[in-house]
Amino acid sequence: MIPIQNDTESHWSMELTQAIRSPSELLTLLQLAPHQLPESNNAEEAFKMLVPRPFVARMEQGNPNDPLLRQVLADNIEMTPVSGYSKDPLDEGNHTPRKAIVHKYKHRVLVITTGTCAVNCRYCFRRHFPYSNNQLAQREWDHVIEYLEQHPEVNEVILSGGDPLMLKDSQLSKHVARLNALPQLKRLRIHSRLPVVIPSRVNHELLAWMASSPLDIVLVLHSNHGNEINQEIAAKVSQLKQVGVTVLNQGVLLKGVNDSVKAQVDLSERLFAAGILPYYMFTFDPIEGGAHFDISVTEAQKLMGQVAEILPGYLMPRLAKEIPGQPAKTVLAPSLSDH
Ligand code: SF4
Repeated sequence: MIPIQNDTESHWSMELTQAIRSPSELLTLLQLAPHQLPESNNAEEAFKMLVPRPFVARMEQGNPNDPLLRQVLADNIEMTPVSGYSKDPLDEGNHTPRKAIVHKYKHRVLVITTGTCAVNCRYCFRRHFPYSNNQLAQREWDHVIEYLEQHPEVNEVILSGGDPLMLKDSQLSKHVARLNALPQLKRLRIHSRLPVVIPSRVNHELLAWMASSPLDIVLVLHSNHGNEINQEIAAKVSQLKQVGVTVLNQGVLLKGVNDSVKAQVDLSERLFAAGILPYYMFTFDPIEGGAHFDISVTEAQKLMGQVAEILPGYLMPRLAKEIPGQPAKTVLAPSLSDH
């Protein structure tokens, strides 16, 4: 039984319209002085700032190093070229057999549904992805369906982006109805950061089409720090679970955001308390403009080794790295210290 809600599709889109789009607006909201933030004009030009207000509300006022702020604040350091960092670190350009389809792993196909997001994360590995070439028009879903019919070994479709939940529920429900009709499919996975940054995105319409799908739906949220998770998100997760959705989280290890034992333990604890299971913690993909967020694989393994001494196994996200050309993600073992 889906609880009756007052929020509608227009509510979350209104929150989206009211998102912060300039560092100066953020400064005011967070009571920061201009000198406390880095120069950002060139970075801002290259990749626009976009931060919904419900996410800003979880930042600490007066703290220029707030871990949520660091994820979204443009910084001209992004414009300094660093060797080894590229525009397509995962070589996705070579795994797109048709427009908007990424087929890297045999049984799973990823569909780039839209190029837009509700938040622009400065570390995003798709920040340079040629979305304008890969936006799916309504009729282009025909090609996706055709491709899936030609590949009966595919049993899971992953809706990605951008953020697939940027599409209206009226559109999503039509696309999903076509996927529902493919007998080969078992699961529908949705990768989204929207319910984290604008929890009202989990509305009655979304729950209704999810509830009516015969596919097992897995919603993989993206959050990187415990402060991103609050009661409102927990309430939405509870509604998703009532309609049978499995809710997981994946994050990215980011210098200055979550590269401490405390931050990692706190994130897993808060996710679990909100009904979300930690799934993956990715090492940084070497995207151009993001080098200042990177921590080495050795450091990451050492950090997660210390985290493993504190958390039970089921709260440990798998530390993983995506290596272009590999048939699956490479899971990295945490380095345990000798006592
Ligand atoms: S929400 Fe995801 S896809 Fe969008 S900018 Fe952030 S990390 Fe990238």
